[in-house]
Amino acid sequence: MGSVSTRKIKPRKSPSVKPNFCSDGGQSGGLVENWQELAIAKLGEEVRSNRALRVFLDSCVKCGACTDKCHYFLGDGDPLNMPVARQDLIRGVYRRYFTAAGKFFPKFVGALDLTESLLEDWSTYYYQCSECRRCSVYCPFGIDTAEITMVGRSILDAVGIRQNYIHTVLDNVNRVGNNLGMIGAAIADTLEGLEEDVLEETGVNVKFPLDDTDADVLLLVPSADLFAEPHVDGLIGCAKIFHQQGIRWTLSTEASEAANFALFIGDDEKMQQMTRHVRDTALKLGVKQVLVGECGHAWRVASSYWPDITGNGLTADFETLHICEFTYDLLRKNRLQLDRSVHNNKVITFHDSCNVARGSRMGEYPRDVYRIPRALLQAACDNFVDMAPDTICEHTFCCGGGGGLLTDELMEVRVSGASPRVSALEDVIANQGVTHMAAICAICKSQFRSVLPKFDLDMNMIVSLHQIVGDAVVLNSET
Ligand code: SF4
Ligand code: SF4
Repeated sequence: MGSVSTRKIKPRKSPSVKPNFCSDGGQSGGLVENWQELAIAKLGEEVRSNRALRVFLDSCVKCGACTDKCHYFLGDGDPLNMPVARQDLIRGVYRRYFTAAGKFFPKFVGALDLTESLLEDWSTYYYQCSECRRCSVYCPFGIDTAEITMVGRSILDAVGIRQNYIHTVLDNVNRVGNNLGMIGAAIADTLEGLEEDVLEETGVNVKFPLDDTDADVLLLVPSADLFAEPHVDGLIGCAKIFHQQGIRWTLSTEASEAANFALFIGDDEKMQQMTRHVRDTALKLGVKQVLVGECGHAWRVASSYWPDITGNGLTADFETLHICEFTYDLLRKNRLQLDRSVHNNKVITFHDSCNVARGSRMGEYPRDVYRIPRALLQAACDNFVDMAPDTICEHTFCCGGGGGLLTDELMEVRVSGASPRVSALEDVIANQGVTHMAAICAICKSQFRSVLPKFDLDMNMIVSLHQIVGDAVVLNSET
């Protein structure tokens, strides 16, 4: 395996850059009165109820294997962005209040008092971690910093430090049903517009059904797919595939969001609430399959948590698949008719989204999660190349905007965190003529559109995987 290439960028001007916090709580709104007592009690609850967390906090031997594996550390060199240092912000408090050695000999075991200044560091560095799990791949004990970050954020939430972006999104979902707060009429209008666009472009009347009770398939997409580039092209690609295959499918106004931001703050209750909502909608529509569209953490929640958090099993009522699994199944049955020549002028690479690559299952075998997206791209185009082996599959770098960091005030963090991925991309652009990078995550696509120009790269080179497949679909007006 080659070494990770990282571009030389200037360290961030303000290493302690933070997200905005809600005005009804947090540092802008003030900590709750008994914050210290509350935070320690919540940490106690977490270590008692979450055995994995306790093992993670107890088992680090400071071997250093994880130190240079985080894209934020590689991007800015801030020592507190080393995964082990990020963990220690909580590990020290755990030792101080929940171990005998930490109570009696705090200095010898790195125990830390939970002070306001330490809480400040939590609110900075748990929001400079995208919960991508890359560091855990290199840790001999599999210590998962993402889990520690989620716990840190949930404690911050409990004492009133609530990140504005994540909570705004969750409020939108609660109020209207999707991250963007799009009402049903706006969704219907958008889909009508897409039908007109596709008809004009192809001459074929491809439908984008909404709330269709005759459908067999419910497609659950991140709400960005309904209007933003390049996400919407992925949705168009899915619609073309359904059209070619004569599949009865629908979108839903009620379940109009695949993403589940409750994961980012480890809020099980909210995660369950949103999951039940999807389940109820799917049952009401009477579909046989729920397909989860191109959203990395949506698939992490669906593949890892749905069966557990719905009690009697979401997957028992209908089949749940990732859209890539669904399309791949058509491919391996030789049902997809594709014209690869439409991509003759492109050289395409693939960015493995961290939440899919390290947080989810796909297909029958463990490595299918890497193989299936590549098989789809290779079926749709002749010129596919991978980036360096130490930057793909389980070693993939996060785009830099995952885990609830896709907000403007964190742009400095997002740019420096994107730099390891961009370095690998620049290598294949320079050496293999790559023109496009496909992805299967709405956050990755939005992040790259924002940050690629900061590296003098064209924002339009980031595309949806189902856009590449959909553009190659041979459409039949008779279907
Ligand atoms: S961002 Fe990823 S690599 Fe960095 S500490 Fe968090 S989980 Fe580990
Ligand atoms: S690789 Fe694991 S054991 Fe080694 S320092 Fe990092 S977290 Fe600790």
